[in-house]
Amino acid sequence: MNILELKHITYAYDRTPVLNDVSMTFEDGACYAIVGPSGAGKTTLLSLMSGLTAIQDGDILYQGKSLRQMNMYDYRSHDAGIIFQHYNLLTKLTALENVELSMEISGIYRRGRRELARTLLADMGLSDEEMNRRVLRLSGGQQRVAIARSLSYDPSVILADEPTGNLDAHTRDEIMDIFLRLREAGRCIIIVTHSAEVSHQADHVYHLERMKRA
Ligand code: ADP
Repeated sequence: MNILELKHITYAYDRTPVLNDVSMTFEDGACYAIVGPSGAGKTTLLSLMSGLTAIQDGDILYQGKSLRQMNMYDYRSHDAGIIFQHYNLLTKLTALENVELSMEISGIYRRGRRELARTLLADMGLSDEEMNRRVLRLSGGQQRVAIARSLSYDPSVILADEPTGNLDAHTRDEIMDIFLRLREAGRCIIIVTHSAEVSHQADHVYHLERMKRA
């Protein structure tokens, strides 16, 4: 089933056109890579799909419904899990606190948050000691915490911006394994990446080109 659909998306920052008539479809249970040179508009596209940036021209459908008609706060806190390039974790809080806070904000799982947060972080390979460590002191583990946080409200779509950009090859492969596991569980995974190793493992690759500017 098409879970997310971009229809003729065109976007400009002031007068600088960035995306021109971009159409893409994404199904559940599949992993997608979006690749292209720097400046091609990949992050902008992800931001539009995450509901963080308002659509200008064209439309984005989630489960057949236009994002224009949906409450973006609800969409971001229930349907779309977002993993930012720089993680955007609260570094003074522990890994557990970061995941629990996200659950609290999305208003779900009033009971048993701690247990669920523990399970999500353990699934990402964090030990009990690491879960209770401040995120700032978890250098290699921040990406895992960011993924666990994005899963805290059980979204159908995971959007990740360069999730392996700062990682060594071994950790990159481990993180990619996590994404592929999430795909097997039926989620739609969309990854913006420069890494050929990552895009080779995706089910489908979309290429974005830089727009020619006058
Ligand atoms: P990519 O992720 O492919 O590198 P981006 O979406 O980050 O591309 O950026 C696409 C273009 O839009 C770039 O030329 C960038 O300079 C420009 N851009 C990105 N964000 C802004 C912004 N907030 N204001 C103005 N221009 C921007």
